[in-house]
Amino acid sequence: MYTVGVDVGGTKISAALLSDGTRIHSAVEVATEAEHGPDHVIARIVACVKRVLQGVNPSQVVGIGIGAPGPLDPQAGVVIAPPNLPGWRHVPLRDRIQEVLGISAWLDNDANVAALAEHRFGAARGASHVIYITVSTGIGAGIIIGGELYRGQSGVAGEIGHVVVNPAGPPCQCGRRGCLEALASGTAIARTATQRYGRPVTAAEVARLASAGDAVARAVLDEAIENLGWGLVSVVNLLNPAVVVIGGGVAQVGAAMFDKLNAIVRRQALAGAGDAVRIVPASLGRQSGVIGAGCLPWLDGRTRDVRNTP
Ligand SMILES: [Zn+2]
Repeated sequence: MYTVGVDVGGTKISAALLSDGTRIHSAVEVATEAEHGPDHVIARIVACVKRVLQGVNPSQVVGIGIGAPGPLDPQAGVVIAPPNLPGWRHVPLRDRIQEVLGISAWLDNDANVAALAEHRFGAARGASHVIYITVSTGIGAGIIIGGELYRGQSGVAGEIGHVVVNPAGPPCQCGRRGCLEALASGTAIARTATQRYGRPVTAAEVARLASAGDAVARAVLDEAIENLGWGLVSVVNLLNPAVVVIGGGVAQVGAAMFDKLNAIVRRQALAGAGDAVRIVPASLGRQSGVIGAGCLPWLDGRTRDVRNTP
């Protein structure tokens, strides 16, 4: 039996036909062309799914799992208003895909989907309590407690990017100040570096300059890592996870970043929690999106049974 995993991002749509969780039989990737709005993007998603399903008997397909940028409502299958998908306001993405293709579909946010993938097949395999944190343009998290995805009351749990680390810090997209995202994301690194160099500098350039020994770039990166560390201390004290997996562009800075994060958490988190956790890089890379989305149809079978139990 197969599932289809679809990863919808602001710049790319990836789709894969999967079996046994991680076996990819066919895969496609196209530009999202998000600037053309929801109808155009949905048509491109449908075309991707049709391509990976070519030659497959529909009766062998369990369902289509879709990971998309939040905020979204996984229960209703509705994308609410993601900043990097312009024009999307309460779009019933799951039902639109289902209707066009005649195959059951599921929707969840990209951080939850990547958390599922790393928990089942990646860096956190075998652990019951796992936090996956993506550090790229923004910062978000997927939380797995007791082997199950924790979504919260209205499906928006995991917004660790908006935990306030310093109320006097720089303004955040959400309207507050000093959120983790405003201090440690790729966007924050680029903003701080641009101020210090007096010219536009990207986060990737900061990483390159730092590894070449540039002192200003090193300081910018160290401050971001330290702030991320303080965010992790709160998460570790609150949830006592066994593994914190960090993915996204900023996590590719290298091993030194993980040494620093582990040291901060050992030193600053409460002894029982700080000693119990490993902070590790994601291991599935860019495939975590399609692999995690491909898990959603299987997962729902189980949660539906639980819900139906009187
Ligand atoms: Zn914020």
